[in-house]
Amino acid sequence: MAGALLTLNAGSSSIKFAIFQVEGSGDPQAVARGKIEGIGTAPHLIARAANGAVLTEKRWEDGADLSHEAFLGDLLDWVDTHVDGDRLIGVGNRVVHGGRDFFAPVAIDDTVLDRLDALCPLAPLHQPHSLHAIRAVRAARPSLRQVACFDTAFHHEQPAVATRFALPRALEEEGVRRYGFHGLSYEYVAGRLAELDPPLAAGRVIAAHLGNGASLCAMHGGRSIDTTMGFTALDGLMMGTRCGTIDPGVIFYLMRQHGLSADAVEHLLYDRSGLLGVSGVSSDMRALLDSDDPRSAEAIDLFTYRIARESGALVASLGGVDGVVFTAGIGENATEVRARVCARLGWLGVVLDEQANERGEPVISTPESRVTVRVIPTDEEAMIAIHARDVVGSAAR
Ligand code: ADP
Repeated sequence: MAGALLTLNAGSSSIKFAIFQVEGSGDPQAVARGKIEGIGTAPHLIARAANGAVLTEKRWEDGADLSHEAFLGDLLDWVDTHVDGDRLIGVGNRVVHGGRDFFAPVAIDDTVLDRLDALCPLAPLHQPHSLHAIRAVRAARPSLRQVACFDTAFHHEQPAVATRFALPRALEEEGVRRYGFHGLSYEYVAGRLAELDPPLAAGRVIAAHLGNGASLCAMHGGRSIDTTMGFTALDGLMMGTRCGTIDPGVIFYLMRQHGLSADAVEHLLYDRSGLLGVSGVSSDMRALLDSDDPRSAEAIDLFTYRIARESGALVASLGGVDGVVFTAGIGENATEVRARVCARLGWLGVVLDEQANERGEPVISTPESRVTVRVIPTDEEAMIAIHARDVVGSAAR
């Protein structure tokens, strides 16, 4: 099979996209990657070739009425002119929630779309955006094959004890359970680890996806057995603007004593908490590391404390640990954060090689360290492209 694939990762105000070339059964090769940010406010589009050269950049005026539909129609036209004579054979979409039924990538048709719509109550802040993008592409190119790739799927095989809440059973039956997210990232990292270090990949590993959203995944033999995000992407670690695990009693307090509505509490916990809430400075780790404000230092301290604390829980789930893998914006780039997390995990036998960490080498633990610590850059788009290629390819056969 040969042709080009488009990957889409749609959020509330941004869409990340990439174009991949597919040739036979080899891994799809990214030829362009881009992002539009500020949809609904001041949109900004930038796309780069694989060598980093800017292919297109555009800014719209503040308040420009650029909907997902309008942007995606334009994007498909733009893609046609940048696929080097290849034909666009499909679109791979990141879909946050697959619920209990979708645990593998799936070709999208009317029935699948209806079933994904029904999952919106489980992820009201995320799911509608993915579905919006899928519908916009269908409207613009009805015959183009589309594939849904789920963030929850990688965690599907977790043991029931890791997914169950201590709530009345009827709620679990209606879908109130822990699902876990960042699955496309963890699946990619697990695949890379298997290539780079097969013995470690076969063992017990904690992968730390530390970006604006952040979570940990306990993997045994490359499979997820536990993770810190749960029913929603709010649980677990402290994040850029999300609180992570809190006592649910805080929510009752906010509603009763502060008179906050459910929507207002949701906004506070998703958008005004985390690094931003604690520092009062920024949700961006780079800005906090550069800041002299003592509250920034406190926010970073809490961030690393929470990673170490949740890691302890996952070590218990795994029955020990052989490796730690850092990934995503903070995990791949913030040497200081990695160093502090490793220091807090010293009790497990983690010994950081400070120079390797500073240099950003793939292995940042010393040879004597009982736990191997690696940095593996993630690539959710590549994972989506692989799945889309497989699904489109099998449909074509
Ligand atoms: P998203 O979850 O939106 O995909 P990313 O994975 O891009 O986010 O991660 C964004 C985070 O990574 C931000 O907090 C940013 O400050 C941080 N980051 C990126 N580069 C660096 C760096 N060189 N040093 C420290 N933090 C960084």
